[in-house]
Amino acid sequence: FKINMDEIEVLGELGKGNYGSVHKVLHRPLNIEMAMKEIRLELDESKLNGIIMELDILHRAVAPEIVEFFGAFTIESCVYYCMEYMNAGSLDTLTGDAHLRVPEDVLRRITAAMIRGLKFLKDELQIMHRDVKPTNVLINKKGEVKLCDFGVSGQLEKSLAKTNIGCQSYMAPERIKSETANQNPTYTVSSDVWSVGLSIVELAKGCYPYPPETYSNVFAQLQAIVNGAAPTLPKGYSDDANDFVAKCLEKDPNRRPTYAQLLEHPFLLADKDAEVDMVGWVAAALERRAARGISSLNPIQA
Ligand code: ATP
Ligand code: MG
Repeated sequence: FKINMDEIEVLGELGKGNYGSVHKVLHRPLNIEMAMKEIRLELDESKLNGIIMELDILHRAVAPEIVEFFGAFTIESCVYYCMEYMNAGSLDTLTGDAHLRVPEDVLRRITAAMIRGLKFLKDELQIMHRDVKPTNVLINKKGEVKLCDFGVSGQLEKSLAKTNIGCQSYMAPERIKSETANQNPTYTVSSDVWSVGLSIVELAKGCYPYPPETYSNVFAQLQAIVNGAAPTLPKGYSDDANDFVAKCLEKDPNRRPTYAQLLEHPFLLADKDAEVDMVGWVAAALERRAARGISSLNPIQA
């Protein structure tokens, strides 16, 4: 089916990113709640239509670890992109609490879902994600963890001005090096593996692992990512967890494991038959988030 704006009722704002905003909407004919992302682009109509065509691949991106795509359309110079609404939001808003660490079994399950999702994108769609970070890992109250915002449209990627590589960069060292040298990007899937490692450390710590306040400027921060010691998990996690993170955060991309190897790592093998109370963890995390006063991210309580 094709979605258009006349059938959509906006229910509230879910968040803002660097390139636009995301709203919770109701698709009236189907009576389905969706998340609608608005991306403002200064492009002519044929380029915008090119993007819509490229986004069509997303109809094939059907997997338990990938946020479902419903359709995209353009109005004036905006691309609107409708996807599954994930009613617990992104992982950054659930875990941004330095005092409460994410239990290892929960961290493990989240990691396993991320790796399976990335492996699916690579094996089935031949794409890499390019933007793995906690805001692009979504979760719902059923405890399902899914990836969004992966790079399916070359045209869209090109059009999004890469204005801020600094501040909170999840880019792998080799990617930072090539971007800052203004070379053609030379990164591969293993750069996504770095971003997974950094995201896991952030979830466990409750904050971005290269805190901006410890560096005098963005250059120094990027320098630390490229040349400094890789971040590690806070105390209290198993040796397997620490080894997993260390392998993802190898400076040399060729030394990072493949997705198949990561799925066979003891850290993730332990997830297979584990009983993990994801539903309970999400519920508790949502309560803490509400107590911190950002419940407005969830404008209409389901
Ligand atoms: P960037 O612009 O750098 O990619 P971002 O990922 O935070 O950053 P957006 O992708 O625009 O920016 O998303 C903004 C916020 O909207 C996210 O942080 C997330 O919390 C929320 N969000 C995005 N998609 C969904 C969704 N499908 N369901 C629920 N919340 C969502
Ligand atoms: Mg995003």
